[in-house]
Amino acid sequence: MKIACYPGSFDPITNGHLDIIKRASKMFDEVIVTIMVNPKKKVTFDQQERKEMIEKCTKDLPNVKVVVGEGLTVDFATKLNATALIRGIRAVADYEYELQQATANMMLNDHIETLFFVARPEFSFLSSSVAKEIAFNGGDISKFIPEAINDYVMKKFK
Ligand code: ADP
Repeated sequence: MKIACYPGSFDPITNGHLDIIKRASKMFDEVIVTIMVNPKKKVTFDQQERKEMIEKCTKDLPNVKVVVGEGLTVDFATKLNATALIRGIRAVADYEYELQQATANMMLNDHIETLFFVARPEFSFLSSSVAKEIAFNGGDISKFIPEAINDYVMKKFK
């Protein structure tokens, strides 16, 4: 069974993340979306909220699972029996950071490959922060955030 781990903050999940999850779910037997806990990163939604939101958005994808992970990503992915790490690339700025992470992970663990999905053009500018900024200012986030969690996100900023 081919298992992929898609690690990230997902604070919250956006249409860009969801698109990557759907594309990866067609290539692997199982995709485990992993909310990585980073104590140094200030988040808007707690782990449980982020998990619930991803589950709501992926409930029609039977081979997608959501977990909360901690520690080194490669170690956590190994515990999940994953052989691939999924990441997304939007722009050149992502590439530099992602390449650094992927190379470090390769040096830590030679058995897990990082696979990059290129963002679809309509999502290539989209980040959780952009969506939150719009929500904070009372704007319409329907083009950025999956419909299933639209109200969930808006409520946070009321
Ligand atoms: P992290 O804090 O690990 O960067 P994110 O939740 O911001 O977590 O992103 C997780 C992964 O998804 C990263 O590889 C990021 O580049 C990718 N990603 C984020 N937004 C998009 C998008 N709109 N389209 C494609 N990939 C994306």
